[in-house]
Amino acid sequence: MVLKSLVVRVGDTAIGGDNVVSTQSMTNTNTLDTNGTVEQIKILYNTGCQIVRLTVRNVQEADNLKNIKVELSKRKINIPFVADVHFNPEVAEVAAKIVEKVRINPGNYVDKRSEKTSFTKEEDKKEIQNISYRLKPLLEICKKYKTAIRIGTNHGSLSERILFKYGNTAKGMVESALEFVEICRDFDFHNIILSMKSSHVPTMISSNQLLVTEMQKRGYYYPLHLGVTEAGDGDAARIKSAAGIGSLLAEGIGDTIRVSLTEKPENEIPFAKKLIENYGKRKRLELPKNSIGITEPLEYSLSYKNISSEDLLINASVDFCRLHFKIKAKSLRILNGGAENKTLSDEILQALGIKYTKAEYIACPSCGRTLFNIIEELEKVRQKTSHLKGLKIAVMGCIVNGIGEMAEADYGYVGSGPEKVSLYKSKQLVKKNISITSAVDELVELIKKNNDWK
Ligand code: SF4
Repeated sequence: MVLKSLVVRVGDTAIGGDNVVSTQSMTNTNTLDTNGTVEQIKILYNTGCQIVRLTVRNVQEADNLKNIKVELSKRKINIPFVADVHFNPEVAEVAAKIVEKVRINPGNYVDKRSEKTSFTKEEDKKEIQNISYRLKPLLEICKKYKTAIRIGTNHGSLSERILFKYGNTAKGMVESALEFVEICRDFDFHNIILSMKSSHVPTMISSNQLLVTEMQKRGYYYPLHLGVTEAGDGDAARIKSAAGIGSLLAEGIGDTIRVSLTEKPENEIPFAKKLIENYGKRKRLELPKNSIGITEPLEYSLSYKNISSEDLLINASVDFCRLHFKIKAKSLRILNGGAENKTLSDEILQALGIKYTKAEYIACPSCGRTLFNIIEELEKVRQKTSHLKGLKIAVMGCIVNGIGEMAEADYGYVGSGPEKVSLYKSKQLVKKNISITSAVDELVELIKKNNDWK
C-alpha cells in the first residue's frame, strides 16, 4: 500500500495526498528584468507549467517579485511563485510575504561554508539551536501569509557539519532535511514540501526512498518534489529524468516534479507531463517483465509493442532502472515491435553509470545567476569533447552553487561573471575568469595537459 502525504497548498495548487502530480519549472532571466521574466513565465504557463520558481539573490530581487506578479495579473496569468533562496535568511523573509512558496537549502541557509572539518557534539547541538533561531522568523511570516516552504536538499551542497556527521551520502541528505523538518514541527509549522536532488540518478532515488522511510518511522509524511539536477540536455537528460523521477512515481512516491534541462525552460513541461501521464498514477506499479529472465552476466531484455519513440525512451528508462535497482545489471537489450534499439540501450546504460560509450555531461538548467548562454556553451564543449569516453565534464551556470553541484565531474566549465568562465580540474580551480571566446580551447588544453585526451 502506498501511504498518502499531507496536502500542502501552494497558491491555488494543492500538492500531495490524492492530488494530481503537478509540474514546475524555473525562469533563467534576471529577476530584476520584469518584462523578460514576465514573458518567460507567460510561455511556461501557456505550455502547462503549474508552478514557477525564480532566483532571488537579494532583497531588491525579492521586492521585484511584486512587480512581476502585478504584470502577470494584468495578463490574467495566475501561477504560484517559488522564491529560490540560498545563503540569506533575510531575503527568504522578504520573499515569503510575496510568493506562495520559498525554497531554502538546508546546506546553506544558516551553516556557512567554512574550513572546519570536525564538530563536537556540543558544537553540533549549538548549530541546530542556531538554525532554529534563524528559521523562526521565516516560519512566523510563512504562517501569517500561508506561504509554503520547500526544504530542498542537494547532494552537492551539504553543510560541512552534515558532511562530518554522515558524509556526502543519501543519509546525509535526508538527515540535513529532517533537522529542518523537526524545527518546523516544533513551531507547529506543516506547510512543508521536501526535495532530495542529485545529478547521480541512483543517489536521487535512494535518498528519496530513505526520506520516505524515515518520515514514516517518525509518523509523518510531507509531500515530495522530485527532480534530477544538472541532467544536461537532449535524450541523455530526458533518460536521467525518466529513470529518476519515473522510477519513484512508479513506486507511488512524488507529488510535484521538475525535469531540469539545459534547454529553453518551456521544453521541460511536455516531458514532465508525459512522465506524469505514464507514471503519476499514485500507486505502486508492478515491476516490468524481463523477457529473457536474468542471466549471467546480468542482461536485461525489454520488449515493447511498437510504441512511440518518446514512450519508448521513458518506459525503457523507468523499467530498466527499476529492475537494475532490484538486481544490478551489466547490459540491456531493447526491442520495439521486434526491432532492436542499441542507441537507446547505450544511452540508458550511460545515464545510470553502468557503461560509458561517450563523454558524460553534467549541466545545470541555468537560472537568474547565469551570466552567459549556457545552451551554446554546452554545445561548444560537447563538439570538442564528446569522443572522450567516460570523461565527466560539468558545464555550470555559476560559481555560487555550480562548484558543489558539479558532482564527481573530472573537469568543470563554470560561469564566473558576464561572459566569463573558470575552469576546474575536479573541484580545484585551475584558471579563473577566462573569456568565453577562448574558454573551450583552454579546456581542451587542460584535458590534454592532464593526459585525459584520448
Ligand atoms: S548552478 Fe548556479 S546558475 Fe546553474 S541552476 Fe544552479 S544556481 Fe543557477
